[in-house]
Amino acid sequence: MDAPAHDSQQPLSPADERGMRLALDQAHNALLVGEVPVGAVIVRATPEGPQLIATGYNRPITTHDPTAHAEIVALRHAAALLGNYRLPECELYVTLEPCAMCAMALMHARFKRVVFGAPDPKTGAAGSVLDLFAQAQLNHQTQVLGGVMADACGTLLRDFFAERRRQRRQERAASMWMPGPEGPVIPTGEALELHLPGLDEEDDD
Ligand SMILES: [Zn+2]
Repeated sequence: MDAPAHDSQQPLSPADERGMRLALDQAHNALLVGEVPVGAVIVRATPEGPQLIATGYNRPITTHDPTAHAEIVALRHAAALLGNYRLPECELYVTLEPCAMCAMALMHARFKRVVFGAPDPKTGAAGSVLDLFAQAQLNHQTQVLGGVMADACGTLLRDFFAERRRQRRQERAASMWMPGPEGPVIPTGEALELHLPGLDEEDDD
């Protein structure tokens, strides 16, 4: 990855750990409604110290909205709360590396900093697939730190996909033996799909 990554040998700053724990709580909310577990929170710098101003979790399926990634949900709440489409004193914590849509939305909003957990080798736009945050030609530069509590964030996603694959296998196995309109369906020479462990889903957020 090109984006600066948190060195697991170095202690995390208490503020970053607190932010990512809150984002993980949001990821659990996504899990509870059957969405891919990604969560985000937005923290704003104030004279009294950092203030949590918005939360969001991934919900494209439940809201029929392909843009409803955790970052966008939190971003819309924060902008509405502050009555401003620009949020230059804000930092966003998200459990998965932002995609290109979210990375650009955060830069349009002039975010000061983005901290993410697990890398996303499929759509990550902070160093995994491309690195929009490193484009010096773009008019706003947002600092980025990746790999913060990456194990906890990634495990939540891997467990979710493993469980979903298990359920699909079970459904397929059950449907093979459900009697169809012309009697029982007898599988003949059907090839079983192979599933590899890890983040190998096609539609994983
Ligand atoms: Zn996104």
